[in-house]
Amino acid sequence: MHPADKYGRVFVLRIGHRPQRDKRVTTHVALAARAFGANGFILGDTCDPSIMESIRRVVELWGGPFHSECGVNSVRYASKWREEGGEVIHLTMYGLPVEELIDEIRSSSREKLIVVGAEKTPRDFYEIASYNVAIGNQPHSEVSALAVFLDRLFRGEWARIQFKGAKLKIQPSPREKKIVSLRE
Ligand code: SAM
Repeated sequence: MHPADKYGRVFVLRIGHRPQRDKRVTTHVALAARAFGANGFILGDTCDPSIMESIRRVVELWGGPFHSECGVNSVRYASKWREEGGEVIHLTMYGLPVEELIDEIRSSSREKLIVVGAEKTPRDFYEIASYNVAIGNQPHSEVSALAVFLDRLFRGEWARIQFKGAKLKIQPSPREKKIVSLRE
């Protein structure tokens, strides 16, 4: 069972992407979103074809389903998400500790939009958010914050996801790289 079937669907909105600087980290946000059980990734306010192509290739090889889109207006997207009954969870070092909020967040089956920033997040998101959640109150990264949040949300159950349509699968091994080809 996919954790989203049990805990509700989750999407990740990446805001503040700077095309010259953030390609790698934004790609990693998307890959962490997929690997740790989110249903999709949205790149706000810009489109970066190389990032979208990297996500597409990972889904093609390692399976899905995993939604991806780009170029939405982030403030409007997050506001509409709430208006339509979803929850917006903004990850920020200035928020309340994840330990205090996670049971309440998990107990709701509403669709969740997790917002992660880049350099400085506009004030709007602190207001739009249903929850401003801190993964500790030290600065680190959008990738680490997202991974820890999803792990807590899904109680580690992301580890049992069976990605559909995968062409490749890793066979865990103590020392070797073992990759199994699943279809033509
Ligand atoms: N001082 C910046 C700010 O405005 O929050 C930190 C930016 S940090 C490089 C990029 C993103 O990582 C933040 O927007 C936030 O989503 C996430 N992040 C970093 N540290 C975090 C923490 N301790 N808790 C939650 N999210 C964090």
